Amino acid sequence: MPAPSAALQVLRSVFGYDSFRGQQQAVIQQLIDGGDALVLMPTGGGKSLCYQIPALVMAGVGIVISPLIALMQDQVSALHQLGVKAAFLNSTLSLEQVRDIERRLLDGELDLLYIAPERLSNSRTQALFARCNIALFAIDEAHCVSQWGHDFRADYLLLSVLHEQFPRVPRIALTATADERTRQEIISRLGLENARVFVSGFDRPNIRYRIVQKDNARQQLLSFIRAEHAGDTGIVYCLSRKKVEDTAEWLRQKGVRALPYHAGMSHELRQKNQHQFLMEDGLVIVATIAFGMGIDKPNVRFVAHLDLPKSVESYYQETGRAGRDGLPANAWMAYGLQDVLTLRQMLASSNADEAHKRIEYHKLDAMLALCEMVGCRRHALLAYFGDAQGSASAAGEATDAGGTGCGNCDTCLEPVETWDGSVAAQQALSCIYRTGQRFGVSYLIDVLRGKDDERIRQFGHDKQSTFGIGKALDEKQWRSVFRQLVAKSLVEVDFEGHGSLKLTDACRPVLRGEQTLMLRKDVQVAKTGRGGYEK
Ligand code: ADP
Ligand code: ZN
Repeated sequence: MPAPSAALQVLRSVFGYDSFRGQQQAVIQQLIDGGDALVLMPTGGGKSLCYQIPALVMAGVGIVISPLIALMQDQVSALHQLGVKAAFLNSTLSLEQVRDIERRLLDGELDLLYIAPERLSNSRTQALFARCNIALFAIDEAHCVSQWGHDFRADYLLLSVLHEQFPRVPRIALTATADERTRQEIISRLGLENARVFVSGFDRPNIRYRIVQKDNARQQLLSFIRAEHAGDTGIVYCLSRKKVEDTAEWLRQKGVRALPYHAGMSHELRQKNQHQFLMEDGLVIVATIAFGMGIDKPNVRFVAHLDLPKSVESYYQETGRAGRDGLPANAWMAYGLQDVLTLRQMLASSNADEAHKRIEYHKLDAMLALCEMVGCRRHALLAYFGDAQGSASAAGEATDAGGTGCGNCDTCLEPVETWDGSVAAQQALSCIYRTGQRFGVSYLIDVLRGKDDERIRQFGHDKQSTFGIGKALDEKQWRSVFRQLVAKSLVEVDFEGHGSLKLTDACRPVLRGEQTLMLRKDVQVAKTGRGGYEK
């Protein structure tokens, strides 16, 4: 057997662990070899060792830039316990303490130095760094450099000077935020173009992902809770405050212990409900997305969405609050045409600038694709974040359902049936066109199904070639067709025109019969009743 590497020896002798987790070893090697790294790993994934071990193995001190003073202190005391020579420099120290640490740094007595970002602009710090031997720079919470995120810190923009002043010192940037835009921003703002990017650990294997078609969402939710989560702790997310109130009240009437939580409630009541949720078991909190920041309750058995999240990142973050204890948990969502319309409308009427809006549309489309997909949802989710585990097999979406999927999401457990919706789509598209692209879904369905209706006669649409050509499908089936057309952007919604549907350029090949359109066969009944998904 080859001798264990220096890194592995440190892992065992200093930290007391047997083996590396995920991509830790590859990251550590990259730094030891002198390269830069960008590490995207969820919280708890084991990011700290990725820079602590190289700092111990390499000559010189590892400088860790960290924005959170409390975390800095925790990390340093934990390292002291392990016998690692670590210290921090931040505003809580006296001048005397600062001098002492500077002396130890210059004498080469430190393996790790944690420092707050604002100190880097200080000429004293820069002079200090110039006189000591630096093994590496670690930039923790690197997403703080992104102006789109919620945690932007102007001090992080100073971090680009590190590379200018010390071009030969390897750098590692770390974050738990994995969306593409943040990643690109970290790379460009910190000058990490040559960094190797490591994405891993986003899989939550104990969470079962399920997205059902909305029929009567509240009732579906209740059946789901009764069948699989009676007496369990759970979170139900809704988009609006009113829906939060109504749903919590309704669940209570049906015997579920539910509490509301949203930003419109008084501070005291919010605190009270949150506290009760954290302290007691078996409570369901019905909340807007205002709930959840920093919520770390290990035994949340389910997270349910009654409304579509606006991006895959939100979906991942919100569902990720389930099953932190590693035991089986459900991420359940009811989704329908109205969700697509509502979110698109919210985007259309927001006063964000055009560039920002385009990004948001894009994110919503990715979320819709996840809802409408036929292959393994987990693979798609991981692939979205660039997690190797997901992208390795996500390329072959069609084969996923055939058995290489995760085995723990609805599409894997019960492969989705598809049907050739080309003709139905042509009928729907022609109907939109022939009625002048001025009507909403319900009206269009009435025309397609040939309804005897005063308004239709007024407009003369009963004389129209698409009147009654769609009798083969019932109303629900037509809604499913329209939803998928909108989700696939073959049709767009005109919100100035009160939600009327319009054709997009993308629909032409389908309309002309040049493209086959396979559609999901929606399962209308929630599966829970049949015990199809045992817990
Ligand atoms: P992050 O910074 O990504 O949130 P941490 O670095 O705090 O995560 O690590 C989370 C937990 O996992 C810590 O308790 C850490 O000691 C543990 N851990 C990290 N790497 C390993 C490993 N290779 N083997 C066992 N435990 C590990
Ligand atoms: Zn799957």
